Amino acid sequence: MLLEIVTGIFWAVGLYLLVDFIAGFFHWAEDTLGTPETPIWGQTFVAPNVLHHNAPLEMNKIHWFRNSLPIYLICIAVLGVAWLTDSLGWKVWFFAFVGLFAQQTHRWSHTPRKALPRLVVFLQRLKILQDAKHHYKHHRADHSTHFCVGTPWLNPILDRFGVWKFLERMLVPVFGAPRRPDLDDKTWYNDRAFYSRQ
Ligand SMILES: [Zn+2]
Ligand SMILES: [Zn+2]
Repeated sequence: MLLEIVTGIFWAVGLYLLVDFIAGFFHWAEDTLGTPETPIWGQTFVAPNVLHHNAPLEMNKIHWFRNSLPIYLICIAVLGVAWLTDSLGWKVWFFAFVGLFAQQTHRWSHTPRKALPRLVVFLQRLKILQDAKHHYKHHRADHSTHFCVGTPWLNPILDRFGVWKFLERMLVPVFGAPRRPDLDDKTWYNDRAFYSRQ
């Protein structure tokens, strides 16, 4: 029984961090790949993100439901796939439940403290949720670090071990990163761009 509880806690923490990582990866892709003109991807994800970087508080003018709607649809799709494949257990439910808040936690980082629900302030104080101070490191650091918006736990590790830099090295030469001037002087980027022009 005790072993089951401990294993369950490990799973829950792991899934909680997995959601944060997946959302962070998606955010990294939104910030790095393509332009607002890129078909489908650009209009759907890049354009709102460019607006968010230019005017972070504009997000609060959108209704919270509309703001998180794409995430809700993804979570419903995850539950649907799990149901169809007969693998709908508590882990999938928990993953989808945490996933529902993937954008809302970001929004809370841009909400004035006085307007936040008390529970959210409490969870931010406990460092279970990321707070504004942590998230602003992303906005201050030319949007090239601190891509995870759920918890304050993953960003120091991912940035310290160069996970995003590794992804940039792997994917940017293939897809390009026209909105990342900080990558322009990377020889690995320019070499590939040079060869691809031949
Ligand atoms: Zn933000
Ligand atoms: Zn960003």
